[in-house]
Amino acid sequence: MSLPKTTPSSIQVTELLKRGWLSKNTFEIELTRPAQFDFAPGQRIRFIHQGSQRDYSLISGPDNETLSLCIRYVERGAFSPILAAARIGSQFHFSGPHGYFLFQPSKRPAIFVSTGTGIAPFCAMARSGITGFTLLHGVRSADELYYAAVFRATAKLYVACLSGASKPAAGGFQGWVTDYLAKHLPPGSYDFYLCGRTEMIRDVTLLIDDRFQGSLVYTEIFY
Ligand SMILES: Cc1cc2nc3c(=O)[nH]c(=O)nc-3n(C[C@H](O)[C@H](O)[C@H](O)COP(=O)(O)OP(=O)(O)OC[C@H]3O[C@@H](n4cnc5c(N)ncnc54)[C@H](O)[C@@H]3O)c2cc1C
Repeated sequence: MSLPKTTPSSIQVTELLKRGWLSKNTFEIELTRPAQFDFAPGQRIRFIHQGSQRDYSLISGPDNETLSLCIRYVERGAFSPILAAARIGSQFHFSGPHGYFLFQPSKRPAIFVSTGTGIAPFCAMARSGITGFTLLHGVRSADELYYAAVFRATAKLYVACLSGASKPAAGGFQGWVTDYLAKHLPPGSYDFYLCGRTEMIRDVTLLIDDRFQGSLVYTEIFY
C-alpha cells in the first residue's frame, strides 16, 4: 500500500455532518472530506484546536465521499468531549494524512490485534478491500465490538476477546488478547499489526519475541 499524494502538513477545514453513539463511551463521527484530500487505509488525521493537537485514525475507506472516525469519550479529556458535544455543522481544522501504519502484503499470515477504539485503522483496511487476516479485538463487553459485521465479512478469523464478566458469543474468547495469542495461535512466523494501548502493545511484543520468532511487528500506539 503506497502513501497518498496529499501533503500531511497542509491544514484542511472540515465540517461535522453526523454523530452516533456506538456504546456508552464511544461515538462515531462523519465529516466532510476536503477536495483533493487523499489517504491510505491505516492513516490518521490530526485535529488542531485551540493550541492542542489530537490524532484520530480514519475508519472510512479511501473511496468514501466523507471521512469517519471512531472516538472514545475520555472523561475530563481536553478534546474528545468537544467532539462529543459539537453541533452538527461545526467546523474543525486538521492536518494530514499522517502515519505509516499501512498494510504490507507478504507471504506470512497477517494478525491484526486491537483494543477498544484501536480497531479503527483495521476498519479502514477492511473497507478498502483487505481480506483474509486474523483479527483479535480486545474489549470489556460485547457492546464494544465495533464494526463486527465489517470484520465478519472480510477476516479469515475474527475473535472477540472479552475481558469483562460477560460470556462471549460462539467463536469468541473470554480473556485478554495476549491470552488468546499464547493459548491458541499456532507457533510460526506472522505479520503482526498492533493498535491500541501502550500496555497491550508492550505485552504482545514480548509474547511475539518469545513464541513467534521470525515475525514482523507493525504498531500504532493510541495512548
Ligand atoms: C496515532 C494515534 C491515533 C489515535 N487514534 C485514535 C482513534 O482513532 N480513536 C480514539 O478514540 N483515540 C485515538 N487516539 C487518541 C486521541 O488522539 C486522544 O489522545 C484521545 O482522544 C484523548 O484526547 P482528549 O484530549 O480527550 O484527552 P486528554 O486531555 O489528552 O487526556 C486525558 C487523560 O486521558 C487519558 N487517555 C487518553 N486517551 C485515552 C483513551 N482513548 N482511553 C482512556 N484514557 C485515555 C490520557 O492518558 C490522559 O491521562 C489516537 C492517538 C494517536 C497517538
